Amino acid sequence: MSRVIIIGSGIAGLFAALRVEQAGHEVIIITKQRPEDSSTNWAQGGIAGILDKTDGEGMQAHIEDTLSCGDGLCDEEIVRCVVEEAGDRIRDLLSIGVDFQKDGDDFHLVKEGGHSARRILHAKDATGAEIERALNNAVSTSDNITLRPHTLGVDLIQRVHGDPSKGIKGIWCLSLDSGEMESIAGDAVLIATGGCGQLWERTTNPPVASGDGLAMAVRAGATSKDMAFFQFHPTALMAGNNRPFLITEALRGEGGVLLDDKGLNAYRLGDLQPEDYSFTLDFSPDGSLATRDVVARACDQRMKISGADYVWLITDHLDKEELHSHFPTIESKLNEYALSLGKAPLPVAPAAHYMVGGLSVDINGRVLMANDSPIPGLYGIGEVACTGMHGANRLASNSLLEAVVFANRAAEHFISESVNNIENVPSWRAEGMLELEEHAPLIRDLETLRKTMTDDVGIVRTFNRLERAKRMLELLSKEVDLIWRRSIPSRELVELRNLVLVATHITEDALNRKENRGLHWNKDLI
Ligand SMILES: Cc1cc2nc3c(=O)[nH]c(=O)nc-3n(C[C@H](O)[C@H](O)[C@H](O)COP(=O)(O)OP(=O)(O)OC[C@H]3O[C@@H](n4cnc5c(N)ncnc54)[C@H](O)[C@@H]3O)c2cc1C
Repeated sequence: MSRVIIIGSGIAGLFAALRVEQAGHEVIIITKQRPEDSSTNWAQGGIAGILDKTDGEGMQAHIEDTLSCGDGLCDEEIVRCVVEEAGDRIRDLLSIGVDFQKDGDDFHLVKEGGHSARRILHAKDATGAEIERALNNAVSTSDNITLRPHTLGVDLIQRVHGDPSKGIKGIWCLSLDSGEMESIAGDAVLIATGGCGQLWERTTNPPVASGDGLAMAVRAGATSKDMAFFQFHPTALMAGNNRPFLITEALRGEGGVLLDDKGLNAYRLGDLQPEDYSFTLDFSPDGSLATRDVVARACDQRMKISGADYVWLITDHLDKEELHSHFPTIESKLNEYALSLGKAPLPVAPAAHYMVGGLSVDINGRVLMANDSPIPGLYGIGEVACTGMHGANRLASNSLLEAVVFANRAAEHFISESVNNIENVPSWRAEGMLELEEHAPLIRDLETLRKTMTDDVGIVRTFNRLERAKRMLELLSKEVDLIWRRSIPSRELVELRNLVLVATHITEDALNRKENRGLHWNKDLI
């Protein structure tokens, strides 16, 4: 029996855990907060995929939509592999107990921006919560999986310090309950830590999304890829002072339309369909249902021109009853602000949403070094990994799919190659380190970081702004490093250190790009 350590309890980590455990191996999952705290739990729209293996035409259309959204940078072999495995993995989810919405005997399928057909399975507008519930339930009844909540992965332990080619033998982590550092030994580590939306002031991501896994792996010799491609979701609700709440693209799939103030006035006075007044038509013939990069850029531009903090999402021309039944989670959130679907316009704005780039991995999820060889015993799956599936832009509802396909592939690879090679792991060296007495400087640094990323590395970029961000990040990196070297780790410190590193990779990749593609939009390159 071999032992794998999995960092993260979203769809990728939990699915991989169940696969590895079924093959008779031991699994330790560590997760930062509660088991369900993850982006997965917050996913609304659904999971794309063709269930019927004989539906070649349907699969081909899914492949073509994915390639077209990826703007020429997808790895076609990977796209084909993920689309072709979709049916099997979705059936796995069903057998684990995920309850997707039915329409009679068939599944109820929805459509989102960039999809040419209805091919998205969902559980109303809380698909991720349903997937997370079923997976956590299965994990909690398994004998060979130990799930450790409130345990923060801090750094990977290399078999030979400083030589990534010799592989990984464990992880140092911080118990957020006791404050103690601990080392855990394993035959392999699967990183499933999700994205890094916490880098920006406005994000749809949960607080756990701070790029930890990516930073840990990079420090252990891994390479990142395509980091400039960060997806901003066009429609986060801008009501109250709370964190932005995502309004799923499926709402626009059902006919929701985006208008600016001018369009809204014209719609109120005119007699055309709302879409005829949408500013999004100036950016794409697909209007409000164009791909996310186009719609987010359109919203950003209109907001910058008018100085408004949001644009409007119109649903009053649609059937209220149907909207309320299809989007109950959104409806109840709106009600908290005296808003409702099918009634008054909803104020929405783009928010940081999905990390398209990530750890460079191969077709089995093995994390690669700069020379493209895998780091033995290290896998990256889910949002943290850059598989080549999304190219320069992710097609809606393809990420849960990619996560589950690669979780399966990495698990199978680990099972096929697994050797029992547990070695002793060193304790964390805490001599001479001091307890951090003041967290205020870290909080100020985090604010500066988020402001920098929001102002200078957002939806629309310029070389000057990127250079400015780079200088600021160098300064922050030195500051954080100074504190890191003399302090006993705390969650705030670990996360800030990781966020600064990930921000640096995003900014450098953006600076190195010579053309605008997909999500990367530099005004100087137009
Ligand atoms: C609001 C929202 C809506 C979305 N809707 C959709 C959708 O409809 N369809 C779709 O396909 N995609 C959607 N996405 C994207 C999708 O949900 C994510 O890409 C996917 O869930 C990522 O899964 P994951 O397992 O890689 O990471 P996550 O689900 O984010 O899980 C990461 C896990 O790692 C843990 N973790 C992180 N760092 C550490 C650390 N240092 N130590 C220990 N644990 C750590 C976290 O606590 C968490 O448990 C949405 C995302 C958001 C935020």
